[in-house]
Order: sequence, then C-alpha cells, then structure tokens
Amino acid sequence: MLKIFTKTKIFILDTLFPISCLSCNKDDAWLCENCLENINLLSFQVCPKCEDTVTEYGQLCRNCKTTSDLDALVVALKYQDNHIDKFVHLYKYRFVEDLHIPLGKIIVEAILNSGLPMPDIIIPVPLHKRRLRWRGFNQSELLAKYVSQNLTPGFEIPVFSNLLTRHKYTPPQMKIGKYADRQKNMRNAFAFNHKSDSFQQLEQLEHSNKYNVLLVDDISTTGSTLFECAKVLKQNGAKKVFGAVIARQDMKN
Ligand SMILES: [Zn+2]
Ligand SMILES: [Zn+2]
Repeated sequence: MLKIFTKTKIFILDTLFPISCLSCNKDDAWLCENCLENINLLSFQVCPKCEDTVTEYGQLCRNCKTTSDLDALVVALKYQDNHIDKFVHLYKYRFVEDLHIPLGKIIVEAILNSGLPMPDIIIPVPLHKRRLRWRGFNQSELLAKYVSQNLTPGFEIPVFSNLLTRHKYTPPQMKIGKYADRQKNMRNAFAFNHKSDSFQQLEQLEHSNKYNVLLVDDISTTGSTLFECAKVLKQNGAKKVFGAVIARQDMKN
C-alpha cells in the first residue's frame, strides 16, 4: 500500500517538476554524467571525532583514539558543495531511489582515494522498522549494496543488512539542534542481532571473531550514529570498524 503511495507520489513529482540535472539543468538525470565527473571530492580526511587533525583515510587522531570505537571515517564531499544537500534531500525525503547510483559512485571514489583498507563485510546503518515502512527503502542499504558491487572489481564484499537492528525509534538527527541531544538520542539505539541470517553468514567467515567492517550511511552529523554502531560491533567480535558517508552535515549550534 505504502509502496504504491510512494510510487504515485514520485510520479506526481516528476510530472510537476520534470527531471533535469540539479547542477547544470541539462539532461534528464538528477545528476548528469558530466557533472558527476566534475564533482570535487575532499582531498584529505580528518579525525572523525575532533574534526581538527588531518589523518590517513580519516583515522582517529592520537588524542581521540581512546575515546571511540570507530577506527576511521571517510567523508566524500562537503555537504554545502556541488548541490549535495539537494541530492540528499531528494534521495531521503522525496524517495528518488535511483540517486543511489551517482551517490554510490561518489562514495566508492572517495574510499579508493583515501586508501582505506578493504573490509571483510559491509553493514548499512539500519533504519527503525517504522521509518523503513514510511520510506519504503533503507537509503543506506542501497548505497551499501552499490559499494559492495563496485569497490573491488570482480569481487562483491558481502553486505550484512540485518546484523545490526535499530530498536529505538528516534527523531531524525538532522532535526535535533544541540550536539549533546544528538548524542543522547543515539545512546543504545542499536543491538547486535544474533538471530539474523546475516549472523549465520558471519559465522561462515574465516575471521568471524575478528572481522573488519565498513559501515555505510548517507550523511553523518555528530558521528554519534556511527560511534554507537561501532560500539555494538566491537562488543561482538569486530576488529576494526570503518565508516563511509557522502558528507558530513555541519552542526548549526
Ligand atoms: Zn549536469
Ligand atoms: Zn581527533
């Protein structure tokens, strides 16, 4: 039912606003090939915790290392550049699923440029089932699948979509102003799902008790979502937990 509603909504939107490249207004794609090629990826990565120190592939700096379970975060672009805010809005709130392809390409490029070590498995940041029902798709899962199929030519890194579950229904991080509130919002929001088929697949891996994970999400703000996911994964056998996102949204206050 919701799916039909979503599709109808997209159809109506397409009729009202014909598709054209958000950057150059030409072509019938939201992001044309030409503009995609000319997008400027960030030329360096910083520590995801303090965001001050430049580090190799976005590793934690020496000062922050002891305070976080996330080992590194690759950020592809600046949120304010290249109309990325508009693309992300269309993708998340206007349900334009096809945008996962150009956005996925952007993440893959950024990971390859950064020199991030290749992970054993990829996990999309899960949605609460209520939000999944509302949106009809997990935007991070589509990105994760694209990354899995395109990061290492000829080899698909397995995507474990339900190894983590989000059991706390929380307001979207983007709608919460204060840094401390965002952190509180995420506290204990995720759980490791031993009953999932992903867990069964994990047990088949050679490194099932010391695996390296890449968490994929669309946008990160304070990083609390990724830090929380990393904490749960480390409690359950993960050796290294990396993250990759399209952009980091700056805090307003
Ligand atoms: Zn264009
Ligand atoms: Zn730091």
